[in-house]
Amino acid sequence: MFVPAVFGIDSQALDTAVKLLVLVLVVMWLATVYYTFADARRRIADPLLVGCATVAALFPFIGTIVYMIVRPPEYLEDQRERELEIQAAEARLHEHDVHYCPHCGYQVEKAFLRCPSCLRKLKDPCQVCARPLDPEWRICPYCEADIPGKTPPRRRRRRPAEETAAAEAKPS
Ligand SMILES: [Zn+2]
Ligand SMILES: [Zn+2]
Repeated sequence: MFVPAVFGIDSQALDTAVKLLVLVLVVMWLATVYYTFADARRRIADPLLVGCATVAALFPFIGTIVYMIVRPPEYLEDQRERELEIQAAEARLHEHDVHYCPHCGYQVEKAFLRCPSCLRKLKDPCQVCARPLDPEWRICPYCEADIPGKTPPRRRRRRPAEETAAAEAKPS
């Protein structure tokens, strides 16, 4: 045999070692091909592209390395989840801005004074600036005007003096 026995390893043992190494490499190569196929399926929606990635992985090791460089960074599942989250957030935002007529349930805008469907009154306009007033408001928040029948009478400033007077009037 032309392979000399070095450090006490004879050609028989070397031959077995080389065969084992080749076997390990073949198993690893098959594993990378399968890994590429499985990974591509999770990241790429187009089955043709998944096939291309798998075929590229047949080129031992280099194919898989190239695939890992050019593959999409995100799993399809994560992408779908993120899209659903964005949709839900948009729906929540939209929901926040939707109002319904309390009489007929027709969708109305916040600033509507009268329901366009059942023609019933929704809000009164401010008598000064004419902006729509929420029934719960007690003054117009836009122009600070009083709302007749809603704005409480203003506090008189002479309360401490009155209290003193009341205390003095009390018989001791
Ligand atoms: Zn209505
Ligand atoms: Zn006003």
